[in-house]
Amino acid sequence: MTGHGLVAGPFRLRWAICAVLLIVAACARDPVETRYRFTAMGTLVEVTIFDHPPLEAEAAARDVETLFLDLQHRWDPWDDGPLGRLNQALAAGGSVQVDPGLAAIIDRSNDIARASGGAFDPAVGSLVKLWGFDDAANIPDRPPSSMTIRTALEAMQPLPGIWDPSTATVATAPGVAIDLGGFAKGEAVDRAISLLQEHGVANAIVNAGGDLRAIGRRGNRPWRIGVREPRLEGVLAAIEVSGDQSVFTSGDYERFFELEGRRYHHILDPRTGYPSQGLISVTVLADNAATADAACTALMVSGPERWPGVASGLGLDKVMVVEDTGVIQITPAMHGKVRLLREDRPDLQIREIP
Ligand code: AMP
Ligand code: MG
Repeated sequence: MTGHGLVAGPFRLRWAICAVLLIVAACARDPVETRYRFTAMGTLVEVTIFDHPPLEAEAAARDVETLFLDLQHRWDPWDDGPLGRLNQALAAGGSVQVDPGLAAIIDRSNDIARASGGAFDPAVGSLVKLWGFDDAANIPDRPPSSMTIRTALEAMQPLPGIWDPSTATVATAPGVAIDLGGFAKGEAVDRAISLLQEHGVANAIVNAGGDLRAIGRRGNRPWRIGVREPRLEGVLAAIEVSGDQSVFTSGDYERFFELEGRRYHHILDPRTGYPSQGLISVTVLADNAATADAACTALMVSGPERWPGVASGLGLDKVMVVEDTGVIQITPAMHGKVRLLREDRPDLQIREIP
């Protein structure tokens, strides 16, 4: 802080006190931004806290890191945490009782599976593993045989068919594994924001690999968010958010390989057992990060014609999708929030979807 010496000298006491108060007020308005980064859930997480005492902000951000690392272990489908143990028990056969912490998130994902008409379904775990998209560090270079895909698809049972919320039990389902990868990041971001609020933080962004939830403002300005261009380096659109909002994007560019001119990516269509087709990215703006995250995955699967119906079933009105043809479909409510930056993509066309 500068100006400590201003109270000395010729000022009378009350003027001196006024001067000190003014200086303190001016300092309090100084923007203080604390940034804290760590890696969790296979992605870089950045916590930005605005206008909060830096030491307290850093302590809060460290708690967010601890939270993310704990959830990463709990929700890893193939490790020895609660979800990994559930999947091992399912593989061994038999109904499995789920502990209350895990039951709550399975229940939530079950609701989204129903509301999305099965486009979003965490019971795709065995298929994800068969394709090799479970390990970001070892993405394969060719698809599994069509016969193994058919066998895995026949063994798969939709989550609503095997999950009993009244007893928190997953019914016997050999060949089924649960993978929460389609919305675990969103759920973790929601919990991180609640944790920051418990620390008294009012203005912050928790950004997990470009997907984020923001609360408050950045001083006098809203937060400015970039949406990735799905095919080129750089930004497709800018969104200004203030208050409490989440912006999530799913795309076919995150975990993928290409073979003979075709792209195979990590979002699988539970009806076919193959990667979803038709859309290359989906961006959703919603209050809640878990809903936004699950919705992006669900809408990618739903495709260019069916996504508007699924979006309204999920209660969403702010959606932008990019088709593989370069057409951008956007809802009017989203159009009002987004500024498209398409200098590099003259081929993109915009179509507003009521
Ligand atoms: P996201 O990047 O949020 O769209 O999530 C993609 C991840 O969700 C994949 O890596 C899988 O772990 C999982 N996943 C893939 N297909 C589906 C699906 N149809 N429903 C739910 N989760 C899925
Ligand atoms: Mg998702």
